[in-house]
Amino acid sequence: MTEKSFFCPSCHSPMVKLSVLAGGEASCDGCGWKGDNKQLLGHEFDSGFTNPEEILKAFANDVKMLLARNGVGVELGRLILKWGFVQTVDAATLTRYMIAVARGIASAVMEERRTQEKERLHAS
Ligand SMILES: [Zn+2]
Repeated sequence: MTEKSFFCPSCHSPMVKLSVLAGGEASCDGCGWKGDNKQLLGHEFDSGFTNPEEILKAFANDVKMLLARNGVGVELGRLILKWGFVQTVDAATLTRYMIAVARGIASAVMEERRTQEKERLHAS
């Protein structure tokens, strides 16, 4: 799917909010710029995803594969037993925890990226 991504004309941050209405208002979370939609810098790109939720899902799936390849599942199973979150742990239960952990990591990475992007903009 081809999407259009918008960037702030002032600081080039992708953290812009825009109105869906033509000629609507737009603003930037990074530098506080305000203007209208037409002033935003737009780029067409092919992400292969239809929305941010899908990106998070695909990213979380990649994280899960990485964890599985490195034997993190077994270690995680030991940890949640040690901490008493479960009394016994079977494969199905462990898989659910692995998916939750992978999703948590993916969310944390995205959150951290946003934080660093904000810091970078405020520092310059
Ligand atoms: Zn900006």
